[in-house]
Formats: sequence, C-alpha cells, structure tokens
Amino acid sequence: VSAGASGGAVVLLSGGQDSTTCLYWALREFGRERTAALSFDYGQRHRVELEAARRVAELAGVEHAVLCIDTFAQLGGNALTDSAVAVPIGPSVAEPPGAGGELPITFVPGRNLIFLTFAAAWAYGRRWPHLVVGVAQTDYSGYPDCREGTLRALEQSLRLGMELDFQVHAPLMQLSKRQTVELARELGALSALAYTHTCYNGARPPCGRCAACELRARGFREAGVPDPLLAAACKAS
Ligand code: ZN
Repeated sequence: VSAGASGGAVVLLSGGQDSTTCLYWALREFGRERTAALSFDYGQRHRVELEAARRVAELAGVEHAVLCIDTFAQLGGNALTDSAVAVPIGPSVAEPPGAGGELPITFVPGRNLIFLTFAAAWAYGRRWPHLVVGVAQTDYSGYPDCREGTLRALEQSLRLGMELDFQVHAPLMQLSKRQTVELARELGALSALAYTHTCYNGARPPCGRCAACELRARGFREAGVPDPLLAAACKAS
C-alpha cells in the first residue's frame, strides 16, 4: 500500500481492534500531525465503544471527533442498534452467511457507505484526501460493504462528488485475524488494544462467548500473542 506523502488521513475509529490497528497504521504512514480519528455516535447499543475510541485516540495522541447520526437507530432491525434483536452467540463465528445468502443480523445496512461519505465530507474541510477504514474482506461476516469492490466504487463516487482525489485505504482488507494481530504488534499498537472494545454483548471484561469475542480470541491465539484487553481485565479484577 502506497499512501503517499501529500495531505492527511482521517481514520474511522470505532473503538474496536481493527480500527485501532488502522489508526496506528495511519500514524506510521502519515505521521501524528497528519492523522485524525473520526467516530460516529449512531445509536449503537454499546456506548462503551465511543469511550474506547476516545481513550485510544488520546493514547495515540491524535485529534478525535465524534459525529452524531441517529438515523440507524430509527431504521432498527439489526443487533447493533436494535435492542429487540438478539446478538449472535458462537459457534456461528467461523461460518459464512447462511445458505440462503442471508446477511448476519449484525449487518447495519449502509453503515460503512454512510460513514465513509461523512468522513470524506469531514476530511474535505482540510483537503485531506486519505480515508482509512478497518474493514476486511476475509472477515467471517461477509458484509458486502467490507469488500474491495464496494470501497473502490465508493472512492470513485467520492472523488466525482466532491472533486477531491480521495483514496480509501483498507490496510486489513486481505489480512486474516492472525495477521491483523501481527500487524498491530509490528505497529506498536498492542498497548492501545487493551482499551478496545469488541464484544457484541457490550461486556467489559468481554463475555468470551459471542461471535465477536470468539473471532478476536482466535486471532490472538493463532498469532501467539496474549490479548492485552484480557490482561488488563485480569489486572483490574
Ligand atoms: Zn462477547
């Protein structure tokens, strides 16, 4: 990935493991002065995510903004914003979407498209063309807005629609969870991962049973790296 030296980067920071790793990737590629983090208050059930994002940005020493968009909560129908929808519990973790091609209930339709569009609008103000997002095509979930083709098409739309030469970077796109953990270690992001939030149940320490917890645990196990979040939780208790 060639990030280039011109302009700065806006990292979509959810407070999770992947976006935190991307923030440290951007620090390496663009430097602290040319990196900013952006989070969205979209009515997510687990407010702990935003607190995690705030602490990660603080630790990384970058500017951090939170944009409020409550439309997704109004739409409902998914497990992340609608409390009437149950979160998935393993062992569904390793399974592709259902045989009928259905998407998991944690899919929030349009979320990454909207987030990247707002991030572009925010970046436009400072003429920063780089947008960094922690999506991965290799993810178990098969979210269609995490795919390379979706990002390239959106990138083109943003360029045309705002007349700025946006580049959407997805440094984790082709990485497995194990490789993502290894990248985090290489980037010096492990200490920040202690503050990240992954659990679908919003638990801290994490529940260890939901699909998100299982996937995270597997990545660390396969990389042979202890999860700093669990180490921190042990120390705190
Ligand atoms: Zn969990």
